[in-house]
Amino acid sequence: MGLLDGGSPLSWAETKKNADLIRETGIKQFLSLYERFQGLTDDCLKWGDEIEFTVVHFDHDKKTAQVQLTDPALLERLQQAENADPGNSPTAWRPEYGSFMLEATPGKPFGGATGDFNEIEPNMKLRHKELNEMLAHNTRCMNITCFPRLGCPSFSNPSFTPKPDSSVSRSAFFPDEAINPHPRFSTLTRNIRTRRGSKIAIHVPIFKDVNTPSPFLEDMSQHDEETQAGQPDHIYMDAMGFGMGMSCLQVTFQACSLAEGRLLYDQLTAICPIVLALSASTPIYRGYLSDRDCRWAVIEQSVDDRTREERGLDPLENDKYRIPKSRYSPVSCYLASEKYNDQEIVQNQEVYDTLRTAGIDHLLATHIAHLFIRDPLTLFSEQIDQSTTTESNHFENIQSTNWQSMRFKPPPASSHAKIGWRVEFRPADLQLTPFENAALVMFVVILTRTVLSLNLNFYIPISKMEENMRRAQERNAVLDQKFYFRKNVYTADGQTAAMAADSATPSDDDYEEMSIDTIVNGKDGVFPGLLPLMDSYLRDIGMDVASRCTVSRSFELIRKRATGELKTVAKWMRDFVAAHPHYKQDSVINERVNYDLLMACDRISSGTEHCHELEGDP
Ligand code: GLU
Ligand code: MG
Repeated sequence: MGLLDGGSPLSWAETKKNADLIRETGIKQFLSLYERFQGLTDDCLKWGDEIEFTVVHFDHDKKTAQVQLTDPALLERLQQAENADPGNSPTAWRPEYGSFMLEATPGKPFGGATGDFNEIEPNMKLRHKELNEMLAHNTRCMNITCFPRLGCPSFSNPSFTPKPDSSVSRSAFFPDEAINPHPRFSTLTRNIRTRRGSKIAIHVPIFKDVNTPSPFLEDMSQHDEETQAGQPDHIYMDAMGFGMGMSCLQVTFQACSLAEGRLLYDQLTAICPIVLALSASTPIYRGYLSDRDCRWAVIEQSVDDRTREERGLDPLENDKYRIPKSRYSPVSCYLASEKYNDQEIVQNQEVYDTLRTAGIDHLLATHIAHLFIRDPLTLFSEQIDQSTTTESNHFENIQSTNWQSMRFKPPPASSHAKIGWRVEFRPADLQLTPFENAALVMFVVILTRTVLSLNLNFYIPISKMEENMRRAQERNAVLDQKFYFRKNVYTADGQTAAMAADSATPSDDDYEEMSIDTIVNGKDGVFPGLLPLMDSYLRDIGMDVASRCTVSRSFELIRKRATGELKTVAKWMRDFVAAHPHYKQDSVINERVNYDLLMACDRISSGTEHCHELEGDP
């Protein structure tokens, strides 16, 4: 979850006092990066994934499962290999928000060789194995997006009682002990809540089963006033940990140049909702079946630090902007062409002017000025004074707490042209198996190459992409929803998508609502399909047999997810719960159902059981 500053965290009031300084320095740091690296070109597209793991403790006698709170020493042990031989260990480990979470990436990025596609699944398996081998008996690392009973009584091992009067989150359900002890994470939690002026309030529609009370309303009478403000027919959660305690699959690309990065950012922005729907794996929250299949809206709400004024509930008096979205949200503007930016982009005018005066073009300046409407959320006293040329922490401070569906990343200040302009693809829920996770990664990686090689154009209005993000989270969206997608994705010879967009007059006729099946697999006379386009790209470049075979298996999984021949993880989980003898058709995931569900997930993730419904033929 981004940068780990060390030191003494400042209070929210002190952080807020320094906010302008952080932004001013941050912009100078960005300009310095831009000047140094704008001309950077690299002949090779690099990529790598990030997987966030959840550690789970099983009690096989009691038939219960809890998240296992881990010691920071575990991370140190996992990092031993990379520290001993920097740049040469096959995996790299990082902390994540929950003290029951860890994040892992390949030790170094994959490159342009098609043979690298054969490395990705084994590398994911290796990460799984490395962590599992360090865990105690009955404790397992799991590839789940959300621990189903997160926030239920005794959901963690060891178990702690939440302290709503004194904890950093004030949560009635999520104790501070479940937050990673590095000060960054508790400071983020406290400052988001303090800035907002109230506790976090997350509402997710409940799935109404035959025995679910109607209206569904939990008895919160023993809790504080804020906690009692639950909405009928919604599951209520009150802490950052309910969102940032969830895991995802991200893919980062290094582009060959700044311009290519901007183009990729835009084209992948339109793909985010499609992959979100295909990856759906999050039907359960705080012990209840919800009516949503993906984590997205829950994290959005979990880090929503906007004040009442910014949310439009009170007149603007103390704050500067009305802000329509949380810091965690779908992107607000395209970066390579502005023709389809049809939403209001709230921006920091001073930042915009500074960037323009320094020679940054309108669109990039708009993007950065939009990110810079936010306050820094953490500040460490030792780090206030920063160089504007050799450091970039203040820029990163704002950048890394804008958790958007895509992230555009300049090279780091310390990089001597070794790392280029990058785009991070952030929407996907996590899959149970390395095979599924690797398949999604390959789908996105090969799509980027296809887009660049065939100059494909996926531009649709940003507002339609946002609507797609909303639809993607609906229960069974992959089969039941339609998504706005561009009808003609081809461009004229020699044109990039951005050039095509710039020279066109956008119209409602550019796009139509399509099923995921049509978008992914194509439909005669309607749409060529992403997979067929990617296949034709792969035929053009030629591929060795082994890589071809790996990619075909992955494409087959994506193809069948899109047609419904294979289930999403969310669908599989719902069916598992529905068929469980201890489930009472009341939307409640009790200890026993939770235990059996997680045991099944563990068998499938670690490969001791093959799940045909999820993975297809072995
Ligand atoms: N866990 C977050 C998610 O599921 C992402 C945190 C990060 O940016 O690393 O989206
Ligand atoms: Mg992460």
